Amino acid sequence: MSTSIATTAAALAVLPGQAGTLRLSTTPVPPLGPRDVLVETIRVGICGTDREIIRGDLGEAPAGTDELVLGHEVVGRVLQTGAEVTRVAPGQVVTATVRRPDGCPACLAGEPDMCLWLKYTERGIFREPGFLCERWVEAEEWLIPVPEALEATAVLIEPLTVVEKAVRQAEAIQRRLAYWKPERAIVIGAGPIGLLGTLLLRAKGYAVTTVARTPKPNPAADLVEASGATYRSLRDASLDEIAASIGNVDLILESSGNAEIALDAMRVIGNNGVEVLLSITGGTHRIALPAEQMNTSLVIGNKVVVGSVNAGSVDFVNAVERLADFERLWPGLGERFITRRMPFGPDLDLHAIAHKSPNEIKTVIEFAPAS
Ligand code: BGC
Repeated sequence: MSTSIATTAAALAVLPGQAGTLRLSTTPVPPLGPRDVLVETIRVGICGTDREIIRGDLGEAPAGTDELVLGHEVVGRVLQTGAEVTRVAPGQVVTATVRRPDGCPACLAGEPDMCLWLKYTERGIFREPGFLCERWVEAEEWLIPVPEALEATAVLIEPLTVVEKAVRQAEAIQRRLAYWKPERAIVIGAGPIGLLGTLLLRAKGYAVTTVARTPKPNPAADLVEASGATYRSLRDASLDEIAASIGNVDLILESSGNAEIALDAMRVIGNNGVEVLLSITGGTHRIALPAEQMNTSLVIGNKVVVGSVNAGSVDFVNAVERLADFERLWPGLGERFITRRMPFGPDLDLHAIAHKSPNEIKTVIEFAPAS
């Protein structure tokens, strides 16, 4: 196909490292190589990482430019394909992985999410333009086909991959044990990652307690309870009290965004259990911890603490399946994550994009289909 397509697209961008620079911009749409795909954006989600970039605390522009186009949680529709593309065709709904490899042995082994050299790029975050623009080009290898029936919630796939990888890592680690029949999990944090982690663990049959700061009632607590999990606020009970009421905690997914909570939670991992740390925390402050008690409890209880970041292609494929499971288990629950929709265009409310509003779960930016 060779219909002529504009070589630039309207985009939302920042000057990385400089707060207050969020603005509408224009980004080049590169010509299609034989293995490339041109995608028209349907919808882009905004997450905590985007807001850190907007605050100037994270993010790097691609080489040769000062500007970084935002956006890494995307759903779009294929417009055109290069001559050698085989896995997708025009009209197909797709999402894309975020990280691109740097040639280190782990990247070469097919796991850029396990990068050793940390010279990777990430679309919309580190040195690669993001997807928050009308159209973009991506190599077929990084695209994930999405069934049409999941288009409405597919913007949740990328954040879901983060917990898919976390649980996949925990399960791989726990193969160390001859006996592991996990039943009880704590999820710390009730942002999109914590909520999607809650749903994932509920879908796997865990009894889940989701712990967050905000007291009930609130929309996140409603989503937790709709999945059959229990919501507990740290305003009403300490983490120790909550853990004591649960029994042996087999798995903790930590997504509070708070390093002190993340480390403190090591004290309540159950025997033979595992805690997966998912919060990327800036800052340099020091805290006092009950070091001997924590060390001994990890040793005596054979406990594991592991960090997990980003996600692999396998996690994207699994997340697509999982989203379909969620829809079967809890029809309509996925769409309740989207608490604000903003049409892309000159009237975009930049303040609302930059700042999380109370009770917000996921803000998305909607792109009108090209006429
Ligand atoms: C994204 C990950 C990314 C991480 C760090 C998260 O918001 O979901 O894909 O690796 O930020 O840049």
